[in-house]
Formats: sequence, C-alpha cells, structure tokens
Amino acid sequence: MADTSSVQIAVRMRPFNEREKKLKTAKCVEMVGQMCTVTDPESGKERQFSFNYCYDSFQPGSEHFASQEMVFRDLGISYLENAWKGYNCSIFAYGQTGAGKSYSMTGAPGQPGIIPRGLAEMFQRIDANDDPDLSFRVEVSFLEIYMEKVRDLFSATPTAGSLKVRESPKLGIYVEGLKKERVACYEDVEQLMELGNTMRTVAQTNMNAVSSRSHSVLTVLLTQTRINKESMTASDMTSKINLIDLAGSERQGKTGAEGQRLKEGSAINQSLTALGNVIEALADNCVASASGKKKAKKRLVPYRDSKLTRILQESLGGNAKTIMVAAISPAADNFKETLSTLRYANRAS
Ligand code: ADP
Repeated sequence: MADTSSVQIAVRMRPFNEREKKLKTAKCVEMVGQMCTVTDPESGKERQFSFNYCYDSFQPGSEHFASQEMVFRDLGISYLENAWKGYNCSIFAYGQTGAGKSYSMTGAPGQPGIIPRGLAEMFQRIDANDDPDLSFRVEVSFLEIYMEKVRDLFSATPTAGSLKVRESPKLGIYVEGLKKERVACYEDVEQLMELGNTMRTVAQTNMNAVSSRSHSVLTVLLTQTRINKESMTASDMTSKINLIDLAGSERQGKTGAEGQRLKEGSAINQSLTALGNVIEALADNCVASASGKKKAKKRLVPYRDSKLTRILQESLGGNAKTIMVAAISPAADNFKETLSTLRYANRAS
C-alpha cells in the first residue's frame, strides 16, 4: 500500500435502501479488517481488496460500523492538521449515484458529514487562538466542471462561458476570474454553498431522480498571518483545502443515457479516468520513494489530461494530502458498479 501520509483510501458501504429492502436483495460485500470482499452473484467468484479504512453501516458497535463522527475523526481531522501546517489537501468521494458520496461529504439532516464537521472545527480552532501576533483569514471559492468546462458557482451568471485555467510563477495554477468570498463562520460557507448548489448542472437519469452530472470543487483557503514585532514584518502562509463532489461514476449502459446525456457521460468518465491515473501515478511514486533506491523511476503524473486534475494539481502529490472515500452499495444488483468502484480505489492505494 502507498505511503499513507499522502494518499489515504477509505471504502464506505451504505445500508440497504427501501427498494433493496423490499426486494430482499442479497448483500454482495463483506469487510474483515482492512479487507473488503465482493462476490459476483452470478458466478459466486470472490474478489478481495485492501484499503486504509473499510466502513460499513449495518450493525452499530460492530468492528466496521462507521458513524459520521468516526469517519471525520479518521479522515477529516488529518486534513485540518495538514492545513494548519500550511499544506494543501484534497478530499473526494467517488462512486455510483446513490452510493453515499454526498452522505459522506455533506451529510444528511442531523448527520453532518466531513465538510460541515471540518469547517466547524476549523472556525472553532480559529476562535480559540490567543496568540496576538497570529491572525487568520478564510476564503472560499466554488466551481463546477461540466463537460470539461469550468463555471463559477458564486457568479450570478455562471453560464457565461467557461473560465480559463492559467499558470503563473507567482500564483501557480489558478482559475482566471474565479470569485473568492471571505467567510467568518461555517454558516457563511453553508449559505454560499446552498446558493452555489442551485447553480449546479443537474439532470434526470434512471439511476436517481436528480443526479449530479458535474464535478464540483469547494476550495477553502486558510491564510495565517504572523506579525514579527522585531522586524515589523508580516508573513502569510496559505493552505488550500479542496472538497470535491464527483459526478456519479456509473457506466452509461445502466443509466439509459442517450444523446447529450451520453456525451456528458464520456466527459465525466474522461475526468474520472484522468483523476484515477493521476492518483495511481502519485501512489506509485510514493512507493518508488519509499523503496530508498536512488534510481527508482518516478512516473510522470498526467495532470494535464483533464480540467479536474489540472485545477487540483497543486493539491495532489508532494506534501499535499489526498483522501478518497469510495462509496459503495451493499446490494447484489449493483455488483458490477461496486466492483468497478473498488477497482478504481484499489489503483489509488
Ligand atoms: P450519492 O451522493 O452518491 O448520489 P447519497 O449520499 O445521496 O448518494 O446517498 C443515497 C442515500 O443513501 C441517501 O438517502 C443517504 O442519506 C443514504 N446513505 C448513504 N450512505 C449512508 C450511510 N453510510 N448511512 C446511512 N445512510 C446513508
């Protein structure tokens, strides 16, 4: 498994939904320790994968049962610690529509996920700061990538063309013209996200009444300014936290997509494939570094293959922390999608 300090992979299985309960659908996934086993309901063939964390949602108190709080403690706290040290990080949820991506990232009523818990904790820490020479600034931006076009979800006219991704020696890689809003508490972020989400591109597919067909990236910029009284100077340290809600990974055959939907599907899959390739290359490079061999060959990381990986380039790899939650369904009739999600997550680990 790759160096766990840079890429961490968690697999999280949701409970059966009402439809599956009514149909008495069989369960095709089992978890033991860090192993996750999926069984083909037709052939009975088993496949095993190992991840940093395996979470299920069946028996509270059992070894793998994961509450929202536990997932946050395992995965969310580490991104905050990293941000405080000035490093960038990216957390994203991958999986088919309805597998539990939003549940892990945003949460459900009364069950806040990684994003609200992390941001609430961040503002608590800022409020608790009693160092008079240290001050904090938090800004957020929110963008959507739809059919390889970048739109600002904080802009009143987000449809007005695609924003350009640029690179400069001073700013690094940035999205030209993307709005940044200063925020003082989690409620500010929540309001902005609600507004941004209404701008998102959604469409109907057979998998789920309304499923998101685009990727969204909420970026939180945490700037710590330290005043040096002796030299009368101030120095800034900024870290970027990217919270990424990926479009559903389902294959097009199952969703009954045609025309525009089919085109969207291939654009979505293109960026998901590019993201998978980038993470796989980073994980391999970690292994190469850890081998200690001077001549260990490092792979070229293909950031330029999609808008998503280009925008995230500075928050993936290096000292940045990358966390992926692979969301899966327990149901045998989702076996193929579950296997494909586990394979995707496995390439990254
Ligand atoms: P996605 O974002 O992948 O389309 P959702 O997060 O909307 O999927 O999840 C689909 C449904 O399953 C939601 O009603 C959600 O509340 C529920 N759900 C998902 N994961 C869990 C979980 N771990 N525990 C309880 N309910 C869950």
